[in-house]
Amino acid sequence: VTASQSDCIFCKIASGDLGVPFVHESAGTVAFLDQAPQAREHILVVPKQHIVSVDELTRENDELLGELFETARRAAVLRNMNASGYRIVTNVGPDAGQTVFHMHLHVVGGEPLGHFGK
Ligand code: 5GP
Ligand code: ZN
Repeated sequence: VTASQSDCIFCKIASGDLGVPFVHESAGTVAFLDQAPQAREHILVVPKQHIVSVDELTRENDELLGELFETARRAAVLRNMNASGYRIVTNVGPDAGQTVFHMHLHVVGGEPLGHFGK
């Protein structure tokens, strides 16, 4: 484990060492509640492996990407967000305002969200 990874909050959460409860867990991913929810439901889905952002992905990560979306979908079902719908967002770098440099999917819903885009 490198210095940057031992300092990474999402590596620590994903390892289970901080005792943060998981909404769902798979072999290579975990889902947990965001500490500062931006919607009625706000889940974070992260790979257990330290990947900085989507910018770092290669086709080597294809299986992991499928697993991240599967975990997001299952977590949305477990939190009863699936029937009414939800949004999946991942921030990459400064213009997106990324603050935690361990890749994560935001899964938000549980209430009507403003339409994204336009
Ligand atoms: P970003 O801005 O990088 O896309 O998203 C980082 C997210 O992680 C924010 O929504 C923030 O509230 C959440 N977050 C940061 N630190 C922690 C933490 O220690 N525990 C939890 N549960 N969420 C965190
Ligand atoms: Zn990490």
